[in-house]
Amino acid sequence: MSRTVKIVEDILSANDDLAFQNRSKLQNSHTLGINVMASPGSGKTSVILQTIKALQAEYQIGVVEGDTAAVTIDADKIISAGMPAVQINTGGSCHLDAVMLSKALPELPLENIDLLIVENVGNLICPAAFTLGTHFNIVIASVPEGDDKPYKYPNIYRGIDALILNKIDLLPYIDFDIAYFKRGVQILNPDVRFFDLSCKTGEGIDAWANFLRDRIEGFRS
Ligand code: MG
Ligand code: ZN
Repeated sequence: MSRTVKIVEDILSANDDLAFQNRSKLQNSHTLGINVMASPGSGKTSVILQTIKALQAEYQIGVVEGDTAAVTIDADKIISAGMPAVQINTGGSCHLDAVMLSKALPELPLENIDLLIVENVGNLICPAAFTLGTHFNIVIASVPEGDDKPYKYPNIYRGIDALILNKIDLLPYIDFDIAYFKRGVQILNPDVRFFDLSCKTGEGIDAWANFLRDRIEGFRS
């Protein structure tokens, strides 16, 4: 075994230990945690805002925003929507890890939060390698990114529970073969749930919100 591989293994196992602690914290406060991964510009923050709108009458939702820079544009949008949010500035790093999340959790009123949405840094490669301690993972893809992403970045699709295909309002204008795209995801992850969605028209938001509602209720009981 090469030295480099060993170092990577050590980093990942230290990450897993902290992810376990994060999970315990979420469990203790009865907060369901979800890790949202995507490439930049797929509409993560827009989907989160629509999710808040759909569920805010029933649940308290908190958000952790991962960003590579100190700009708080996305976190400010969540706070304007009336929900608690903290931003993790990764200092240029292209993914969140369990250490970063462990520093953000004490900044949130977890006892009052039913659903914690963690918006990972926009990147389809390394976020897949770092568990955070959340209960499940999703990927948000979008029509303008192209239908070949599952074939080019397979790892990110493997451990996810749901895949949101965002910006479906653009399908008439862009060559995007939905069947080809979904086949690529299903080869990697046969049990994944698909949600075709448009933040612009609101199509598909209800189905996605229902899925989350089921998860939150299942987690409580
Ligand atoms: Mg964002
Ligand atoms: Zn990274």
